[in-house]
Amino acid sequence: CGIVGYLGKKQATTVLVDGLSKLEYRGYDSAGVAVITEDGSIDVTKCKGRLANLEGKLEVTPVHGNIGIGHTRWATHGEPSDVNSHPHSNANGTISVVHNGIIENYIQLREWLTEEGYSFKSETDTEVIPNLVDYYYNGDLVEAVMNAVKKLEGSYAIGVVCSNEPGKLVAVRKDSPLIVGLGDGEYFIASDIPAVLNYTRDIYLLEDKEFVVMDESGVTLLDLEGNKVEKEVYHVTWDA
Ligand code: GLU
Repeated sequence: CGIVGYLGKKQATTVLVDGLSKLEYRGYDSAGVAVITEDGSIDVTKCKGRLANLEGKLEVTPVHGNIGIGHTRWATHGEPSDVNSHPHSNANGTISVVHNGIIENYIQLREWLTEEGYSFKSETDTEVIPNLVDYYYNGDLVEAVMNAVKKLEGSYAIGVVCSNEPGKLVAVRKDSPLIVGLGDGEYFIASDIPAVLNYTRDIYLLEDKEFVVMDESGVTLLDLEGNKVEKEVYHVTWDA
């Protein structure tokens, strides 16, 4: 299971699939990507099986855009299937999420969101996350993700994109690994360092409950209260 994210000038799908291939050692049963396309909407491509299946789909139907998130899934809740593959989105497809880990209280959250009028397509624990972010979304993605995360129990590394804020990528972790790659005008998130070494050796190692907000001006780290976090850049001197 692995997460990657990209924001820069390159074609996102190329970087995401390359990054996911470096995380294959972690094991997985499905793979997918969500990309903010040139018209500002989110395009999700995902399927059960090997990364080669995903690459095949992307060859048949290419997706163009420079910001995206990617995922290889190790199913914990819901069998390996196209529908259960990540990314997962809200009903109108404006918010997409990749997630590694387990949301322990997803049944309660799903019941509550269902009462609030939300519906669910998959059997995953993850699908509550884009719907929670939708519930809290009021024009500020960072605030919505922070409020959503405060409801989550369990472990997570999460990457989020939102078509209402098409130049932004938000990520957060708790008890699941996540690093940030700092390139020259391009930025990355990943479950592990090898996923970004083709592009940069400058890394932020995230602690639990630290938020990453990236846009074309750079990367900001925040705590759960929204305060800025200062962090040393770790320079990777080894090769994967
Ligand atoms: N619990 C989530 C699922 O089953 C994420 C699994 C993972 O870490 O890949 O879909």
